[in-house]
Amino acid sequence: MLPDGVSFAVKGHMGFKTIIEPFRVKSVEPIRLTTTVERKEYLRAADYNPFRLDSRKVIIDLLTDSGTGAMSTNQWAGVMLGDEAYAGSPSWNRMEEVVGSVTGMKFILPTHQGRAAERILYTQLGGTGKIFISNTHFDTTRANIEYTGARAIDAVIQESFDDDSAYPFKGNMDVNKLESLVSSHGPEMIGAVILTVTNNSGGGQPVSMQNAREVSAICRTHEIPLVLDCCRVAENAYFIKLREKGYESSTCREIALEMFGLADAAIMSAKKDAMVNMGGFLALRDQSLADACTQVLIITEGFTTYGGLSGRDMEAIATGLEEGFDEHYLHYRIASTRFLADRLHTLGVPVMRPAGGHAVYVDGGAFYAHIPPARFPAQALVCDLYITGGVRTVEIGSVMFGKYDGEGRPVPAKRELVRLALPRRTYTQSHLEYVAEVFAEVKHQKQSATGLRIVEEPRFLRHFTARFERL
Ligand SMILES: *Cc1c(COP(=O)(O)O)cnc(C)c1O
Repeated sequence: MLPDGVSFAVKGHMGFKTIIEPFRVKSVEPIRLTTTVERKEYLRAADYNPFRLDSRKVIIDLLTDSGTGAMSTNQWAGVMLGDEAYAGSPSWNRMEEVVGSVTGMKFILPTHQGRAAERILYTQLGGTGKIFISNTHFDTTRANIEYTGARAIDAVIQESFDDDSAYPFKGNMDVNKLESLVSSHGPEMIGAVILTVTNNSGGGQPVSMQNAREVSAICRTHEIPLVLDCCRVAENAYFIKLREKGYESSTCREIALEMFGLADAAIMSAKKDAMVNMGGFLALRDQSLADACTQVLIITEGFTTYGGLSGRDMEAIATGLEEGFDEHYLHYRIASTRFLADRLHTLGVPVMRPAGGHAVYVDGGAFYAHIPPARFPAQALVCDLYITGGVRTVEIGSVMFGKYDGEGRPVPAKRELVRLALPRRTYTQSHLEYVAEVFAEVKHQKQSATGLRIVEEPRFLRHFTARFERL
């Protein structure tokens, strides 16, 4: 764990200790409160996979921060202003202008979400025999790459796996590993290098500008495309501002722009830092690659001025992307993640610290040390958090990343994590205090917890639909 006294302290507004939510409530959505007895039955009916749960049966939904944030009054106003023209919508002009100004890239392709941008780009850059190297491939990224026949290799720094390390940029790529992969496979076999900022599957940990610069230099030397998976580039920029020398007085937009400047392409799920419920884009510098991608965009997503989006979505993205870089918002955002991580740490729950941007990661393997990886301890914890308090979380362990070897024997993931993703501007501090209390109760009953067995699974992205049985 992080030694006491090591912190990246952030203070409240004007020297106050309390960091407040920098918004007030205008419209409310009721939460339906359920009992433990009800939830036991709901989860059994969902085959112990919370992805299969009806959201009305969830009290606090920390399944994902993707598309679950609250839109602002300005975004809702934009929804009314959305122009639904098939071609040449002014809403597209606005989105193109904001995305172009945030990324500094020339060619912007709207898509219905991040994975559509991934599919378009990686079918161009991938194919059998190709290798992709990322700090950590997100699950849809890996799936889209492997679907083309290429291989996805993770190369994150060792500190990423060390919960005791207070290293400020645990999302960094291991540049030595990158160099040796490039020389062993040959640069012409590398489809792309992908920097995921922040590193979602690696704890939402940030990537430093220094690291991005080193990765970019290697890519430029070998003429390998560098892709920024920029879903959480605003949160990443805020961490750089707090922790990396030389950026204290830069704005987060300036920091992000500098990082985009190191890359050749960017993929964004606007459902994250652009704070919308649906949307994404692909941004490119190279004209011929943009032309090839545009062909696929038109065939599979829609015409170039809407991709897979409605005009109202594009308005909301343009406004949301700007709001996502607001530093009072980012200050509160990072503080709330940290608040939950610190609460859990105080309770003796093994949690990754310093906390990342969008989520708190609990070491489910250590929490349920008596359940072996083959019995999915992190998935068991996910189930128990739901039954105990109606808190929905997600496993990032052997359910998500486990594989089978040539003989069909299961190969566990490196780690058994439970992710508590925080939707943007959605829950208050008391909601997070409740989550901590639920953890305390689960911890209290920990010895009686049992593992799970998979009874049915699909070939790709099995965590979404697999069915389990309690042992
Ligand atoms: C969410 C996400 C994606 C995929 O985006 P969708 O909008 O869910 O399709 C890709 N990469 C990262 C890092 C993500 O967090």
